[in-house]
Amino acid sequence: MAQLSVRNVTKSYGAVNVLNQVSVEAEEGAFVVLLGPSGCGKSTLLHAIAGLHEIDSGEIRIGDRDVSGLPARERDVAMVFQSYALYPTMSVRENIGFPLKMRGLDKAAIAENVDKVAAILKIEPLLERRPRELSGGQRQRVAIGRALVRDPKLFLFDEPLSNLDAALRGDLRAEIKRLHQRIKCTMVYVTHDQIEAMTLATKIVIMNRGDVQQVGTPHEIYHNPVNLFVARFIGSPPITLLQGKAQLGAAGLSFVIMGGGSRAELSLPDRSWKPDDAGETVMGLRPENIRITQSAQPVTTAIVDLVEPTGPEDIVTLNIMGQRAVIRTPAGIAAQGAQVGIEIDLDRAMLFDPASGARLA
Ligand code: ADP
Ligand code: MG
Repeated sequence: MAQLSVRNVTKSYGAVNVLNQVSVEAEEGAFVVLLGPSGCGKSTLLHAIAGLHEIDSGEIRIGDRDVSGLPARERDVAMVFQSYALYPTMSVRENIGFPLKMRGLDKAAIAENVDKVAAILKIEPLLERRPRELSGGQRQRVAIGRALVRDPKLFLFDEPLSNLDAALRGDLRAEIKRLHQRIKCTMVYVTHDQIEAMTLATKIVIMNRGDVQQVGTPHEIYHNPVNLFVARFIGSPPITLLQGKAQLGAAGLSFVIMGGGSRAELSLPDRSWKPDDAGETVMGLRPENIRITQSAQPVTTAIVDLVEPTGPEDIVTLNIMGQRAVIRTPAGIAAQGAQVGIEIDLDRAMLFDPASGARLA
């Protein structure tokens, strides 16, 4: 049974449809990430699950209960926000223990639970401090502790790492992943950061303008995006998108790129899809599917447009007949301005409809 089940939830603010028939399932123990650009409705959905916003229609179930009409305090969920929302006058110990105090637990039981949570989050030395005496990362650990101590059915996180600097964000991200693996709780985590989504999720829900675009494992979303929006949103460096014409000839399916007086015909493995007469198609290639080659007969050639060293490897922007491709290479093999031969894993190429963005093959 799903621990969380959101079914056809709709929510508008005035004329603006913020959630449009959204459905999301989280299995027991899942780490579900809601991913999408700013303003797509992620926080609205999370607040609706928490009971902080009413929904216009649809159903939200937690465990075996329909909680759609229940107030937040009866839903047995704990939420961690981007802004830590700690009580400034309380110590860390009091902040973490607060939900238990509200529940009426006695002092000894509260202390025992706070100590347990502090040990999990490695914040025992901070227990007597006030929030203002903590760094951003420590404050967010305390906020997570306050959620953890409640032992809820469901954890909700709304961009909890967005206020932290890059190094700390990476540390705390790894800690949240370990925490999830250790306590095996069900989590719903909102972010606009695709790296966070890829590294944390067991399941990613990609949203755009109040619509769910795709639901899948990180692997499925990366390797098998359903449309151009998802393909572009996931992956760093980004997916390369080449405009061209797909055609079906005697030799099978091929993809033709033209520009600057050159032409390349890339022959594609057979697929069930057939192009129409115009054949206008966008080919999507992940950075690892394009390589610089020394072969005397490369599939085509390119000019090295930009080299961005990252240490062990370079991010290289290529100009292929006037179109841009971004790849990763071992450090130092591409020189800016050079002409290079390239090879392409054409069996991994994805084809999209340039007008609708839909995946074709
Ligand atoms: P996200 O968390 O994905 O950035 P939100 O869920 O916060 O997006 O917002 C989705 C959309 O709903 C945005 O266009 C936002 O402006 C709008 N919105 C959010 N809250 C309100 C509100 N209380 N009143 C009117 N519009 C709102
Ligand atoms: Mg938000």
